[in-house]
Amino acid sequence: MIKRNPKLKKCDMTKCAGYCCYDGVYISDDEEKKLKQIIKNHPDDFEHDAEFYFENGNWKNIVVGRKTKTRPFVYPDDFPKHFNQTKCIFSDDNGLCILQKIAIRENIHEWSYKPNACIMFPLTVRQGHIIPPPEKNQRDDCYIDENYPGYVNCLYCGRDCDNGKNWRDVLKKEIQYFNNVISKNR
Ligand code: SF4
Repeated sequence: MIKRNPKLKKCDMTKCAGYCCYDGVYISDDEEKKLKQIIKNHPDDFEHDAEFYFENGNWKNIVVGRKTKTRPFVYPDDFPKHFNQTKCIFSDDNGLCILQKIAIRENIHEWSYKPNACIMFPLTVRQGHIIPPPEKNQRDDCYIDENYPGYVNCLYCGRDCDNGKNWRDVLKKEIQYFNNVISKNR
């Protein structure tokens, strides 16, 4: 297992406005089925049929599979230069996840409709283990070369920083949700 103990800051939409959602998210077959049902159940929130929102993805021949579609979007200057100027089809213009907004409106848990990878971000789950972002002297898991130096470590909530707090404290809610909900439904 990778040994990491970064100090992080909590997600702050005034600092990055959902830049993590720039490429959408890769999802499992079960998640795609569940999302399609959510879309069908909410015809007033989605103008297209459920199929429209998903596509086959291939991220640099490293990650291949079904994912949420993206749409073009122009970001402010502090957006990482090596990220595409796109955003997930489920992200609104302010960077908020529409799936989360619907759940909040319905008074159910805010993460009930979101894909697991989105709930856990900036953590990742591999073989049942929660992996935090890299420390500042460690290489990002999505490092390709100097033209694509990383993903999570280029984002406000995923960057190891001296004035951050222990990642387990900052992401306590996500870790609890993983233990109490996600891991029980696997
Ligand atoms: S599903 Fe929601 S949280 Fe996940 S990438 Fe899309 S907008 Fe972001």
